[in-house]
Amino acid sequence: MISRVKICAVVAAADARSMWTQVRRALDVTRTIELRLDWLSDDAEIAKFLARLRASQRANPERATLIATCRRRQAGGKFTGTIAKQLVHLAEAIRAGCDWYDLEIETSSACPPELLDVLLGEGRQMSSAHFFERTDKNLKRVAVDLARTRPDAIKIAAQCNSLVESMDVLRLAHGRKNVVAVPMGGVALPARVLALREGSALAYAPVQNATAPGQVTLDAMKHLYRADRLRRKTRVYGVIGDPIGHSLSPVLQNAGFQARQMDAVFLPFLVRDLKDFLRAIGPLGIAGFSVTIPHKEAILRHLDDRDPMAAAIGAVNTVVVRGGGKLYGYNTDYVGVLRALERRIPLRGSRALICGAGGAARAVAFALAESGAVVCVCARRMKQAKALARVVGGEAVERPRLRREFFDAIVNATPVGMYPHSDRAPLRAEELNCRLVFDLIYRPRSTKLLQIASRRGIETVSGIEMFVAQGTAQWEIWTGERAPESAMRRAVLRALHNEEKMAAR
Ligand code: NAP
Repeated sequence: MISRVKICAVVAAADARSMWTQVRRALDVTRTIELRLDWLSDDAEIAKFLARLRASQRANPERATLIATCRRRQAGGKFTGTIAKQLVHLAEAIRAGCDWYDLEIETSSACPPELLDVLLGEGRQMSSAHFFERTDKNLKRVAVDLARTRPDAIKIAAQCNSLVESMDVLRLAHGRKNVVAVPMGGVALPARVLALREGSALAYAPVQNATAPGQVTLDAMKHLYRADRLRRKTRVYGVIGDPIGHSLSPVLQNAGFQARQMDAVFLPFLVRDLKDFLRAIGPLGIAGFSVTIPHKEAILRHLDDRDPMAAAIGAVNTVVVRGGGKLYGYNTDYVGVLRALERRIPLRGSRALICGAGGAARAVAFALAESGAVVCVCARRMKQAKALARVVGGEAVERPRLRREFFDAIVNATPVGMYPHSDRAPLRAEELNCRLVFDLIYRPRSTKLLQIASRRGIETVSGIEMFVAQGTAQWEIWTGERAPESAMRRAVLRALHNEEKMAAR
């Protein structure tokens, strides 16, 4: 066993001091750490860092399992020195208290084993191979090659262009001891989180922000996805979309599972090719998923059945995987709109204006019309506005009319004002003649439109309300239980608050 603690923090910085700060942060979360010596700017910084490590290990031995890595540039690392120098650094790292050293196949194949034994015999060897460009078609053979010199563990990291490829990488660790499988690339992020469940001896996670697509930060690996607690029977859910990196759905849904102490996890799937994802549902044991841009309509073709309202709206944002892998679709954006608005104003008999005529506008229009509101639509393309107004028995409104019209509610269903263009608003102050403004955008929490409305004394509703409501409705569909709404809302607000703080720096 490499380590009993299987989430491995990756510590990587250009100077010894920052590297040490990262070590301390890593120790708050895990007890297994990879030290990327090759990231240190030069030999002097490496020596400085190792001297500090040695002193600390003397004072406080065996605090963690430490893996030293000094990967050369030829193998995708940052170390530009010779092989001899690389080995000297690794030997020094072992003397300073590292238990393991990671040696890439490019170096090990160029060194006589006796030399490695003399220099590094005190440490345990992890023999590694990295494929940054594309997955090597014969990874099993690579594993055999790596094992030939009888290292204590092997590690294979491979760039994956599909979920199916990422599962092939994980399969290398199935039923084998001391094999570390690292699927790389944005598409492979879920596989990276599920690696321990699939038998990988470690799951790597950078302490600092992720620097490559598909990496998961240490904090997210441990606390958001709880990768070290996932088992075969853990229920897997996710959100599919492209892009997906900024989705807050994992924060929302995992907060729900954690609040109810459920054995379930929710992952972000970067999906370019729907068929690739659909093929992975069975093997990954996916029990349900959210659907976001650009798949909300395309997913319809792959469903076995759908809820009548999702069929009428023509878009699905929630899928349940039923027995035999049958897919059933719902639209909870619709529910989200109602839950966000009903608490504020009586919808029956009200008159509401929707700005925009895209996917979300459609869900809003159906929700409002079903609740007995008169729906008006204003979009920059009159043809789209008219088409949407027609299906819900409403009216398309030309923009110049807005200054003279009064509505009970105005709903922004355009992306105008969304981060990073937060200084924009889809309507001007004189066009906001209404009792309530509801902006579907939730980044930022308080949009320019909501600020203008507030200044005019108009009640405002943030997109967070809809986001939380549509998400809790999804959670309830999947679990059949009442969602812990306040815990889920708190998690999203905290994440948005942190994001805004980072953006302001
Ligand atoms: P969409 O299908 O792309 O539709 C966007 C609509 O906005 C279209 O009518 C589009 O007009 C219009 N639009 C785009 N840029 C515009 C501009 N500069 N000026 C005027 N109109 C413009 O997108 P969607 O899925 O409906 O999403 C719309 C917004 O709702 C997004 O900001 C999204 O984040 C938000 N949303 C929030 C939630 C939530 O839970 N809070 C849920 C879903 C969506 P054209 O057709 O002419 O381009």
